[in-house]
Amino acid sequence: MKPITNFIREIIDKDLAEGKNSGRVHTRFPPEPNGYLHIGHAKSICLNFGIAKSYKGLCNLRFDDSNPETENMEYVNSIKEDIKWLGFDPKGREYYASDYFEKLSEYAALLIKKEKAYVCDLSVDEISKYRGTVTVHGKESPYRNRTAGENLELFQAMKDGKFADGAKVLRAKIDMANSNMLMRDPVLYRIKKIAHYKTGDKWRVYPTYDFTHCLSDSIEGITHSICTLEFDVHRPLYDWILDELGVHHPQQIEFARLNLGHTVLSKRRLFELVEKKAVFGWDDPRMPTLSGLRRRGYTPESIRNFCGSIGVAKFNSIIDLVVLENAIRKELNKTAPRRMAVLKPLKVVITNYPDHKKEELAAINNPEDPSMGTRKVPFSKELYIERDDFMEDPPKKFYRLAPGREVRLRYAYFIKCEEVIKNKKTGEIEELRCTYDPATKGGNAPDGRKVKATLHWVSASEAQAGEVRLYDTLFTKRDPEGASDLNPNSMIVLKSCFLEPVLKGAKPGERFQFERHGYFSADTKDSSPGRPIFNKIVSLKDIWGKIAGKKKK
Ligand code: ATP
Ligand code: MG
Repeated sequence: MKPITNFIREIIDKDLAEGKNSGRVHTRFPPEPNGYLHIGHAKSICLNFGIAKSYKGLCNLRFDDSNPETENMEYVNSIKEDIKWLGFDPKGREYYASDYFEKLSEYAALLIKKEKAYVCDLSVDEISKYRGTVTVHGKESPYRNRTAGENLELFQAMKDGKFADGAKVLRAKIDMANSNMLMRDPVLYRIKKIAHYKTGDKWRVYPTYDFTHCLSDSIEGITHSICTLEFDVHRPLYDWILDELGVHHPQQIEFARLNLGHTVLSKRRLFELVEKKAVFGWDDPRMPTLSGLRRRGYTPESIRNFCGSIGVAKFNSIIDLVVLENAIRKELNKTAPRRMAVLKPLKVVITNYPDHKKEELAAINNPEDPSMGTRKVPFSKELYIERDDFMEDPPKKFYRLAPGREVRLRYAYFIKCEEVIKNKKTGEIEELRCTYDPATKGGNAPDGRKVKATLHWVSASEAQAGEVRLYDTLFTKRDPEGASDLNPNSMIVLKSCFLEPVLKGAKPGERFQFERHGYFSADTKDSSPGRPIFNKIVSLKDIWGKIAGKKKK
């Protein structure tokens, strides 16, 4: 399928037509290994790897790892796993900015020699005071006019660990009056006497993100450096660094980051949720991380389709969660076998059904795909139906089971409610006594009489007990501000569900449609044969969309 064009592809087409970069297209996906990837990263992955693929170019996976405090190997490994799961293969093109530390320090020395960088002794607070504001020019550092020789010596001493953390920094010498605050002599190197997860104790100074990022792209020969909109203000600095050094100059193209309603897409904010135990971990099925979505039951294909469907824009907006949900719903409608599962059980005894009789009734696995065939579902005298499918005193529009009323049990018989048994003390309904009509086997009456509802059910003695976890949005607001907007009801655990017996063998990760409930996936961590635990992926229809109007704030 030919990819839909967008403004980035148009730029690349034009570059190719003009013979720029000798016809090369080389992109990269540059995560910082300081957290797990989220669905916003998936958009960037699909874009960068997708462009490389369709232009027969290359795409690097580069870990932008110049910040030793927050980075580690666990994150590197999770990022690699998530990219692979999503269906992309860097084909050995795996790089680390930390592998360029030597080269970067040579570049820094070059800038010093050109008198375009200097060692500054101001403290962090002083630097920020000297920087000025958007309306007030910055003030030049008293250390700005050190000679190149002195700066080279001091930079070497910084590298040799001769000074304390924060005692000195290396700064670019640009323009303290520049309207772009990032151009007011930005810091290029800071002293950090901490170990790096890859380079260990080798380095006592670390380059800043801005210095590292643009030069890593250059070193790798990247042609199109695609990033999110907030980096447009960094572009003049990248241009300055690359031009002063006279090195390969990738073209930066900014696009709008993905924002999803009722969640947050920022590693820092997701990290906080994990740290504060607002969720069970990075792979909590409520998390918008790729590991969370995977555990919830999302497929790589549904996420790729979602990323393809939302397009690439130059302005920020929030995409409703329902767009993501529609992508998985559409796929699972075609592929997920149907099963019956009673989540909140109510016992039904069929009084006129023979005591020890058992029947095996044929049920269709997927009406959308006849090749998926049928299965057998046991039927007997004692069944479970959904508690919500019965009302003792039904309002007008309730068509399901009620005293004296007849309904269809899916793939089975018509049953009629004759008696309601209640707990003598609490008054709670404990059981329904019903009769069945043997002539309605398969779900149709020979006399043509109709019923208004069809219920799912499971046979009590064969039912498989299981747990079902229902999810709602992680936050109550569409554009959440903080922890106070967390949804206290984002997860509901139903521990006493009764499932169709074939679900006993559900393999972790296997997906089903539970009829009338939605799509579910056996949890990859907690589910086991004999004790199946299911995550609800998404409801059947867009009921969420209907109430979203109310939720929007
Ligand atoms: P976060 O704010 O979640 O920490 P980040 O940009 O700091 O995101 P990086 O690891 O630096 O995280 O991101 C790697 C790549 O993914 C970058 O090129 C970045 O532009 C892109 N990216 C990050 N978040 C999104 C998003 N929400 N939508 C699209 N692309 C994104
Ligand atoms: Mg970043």
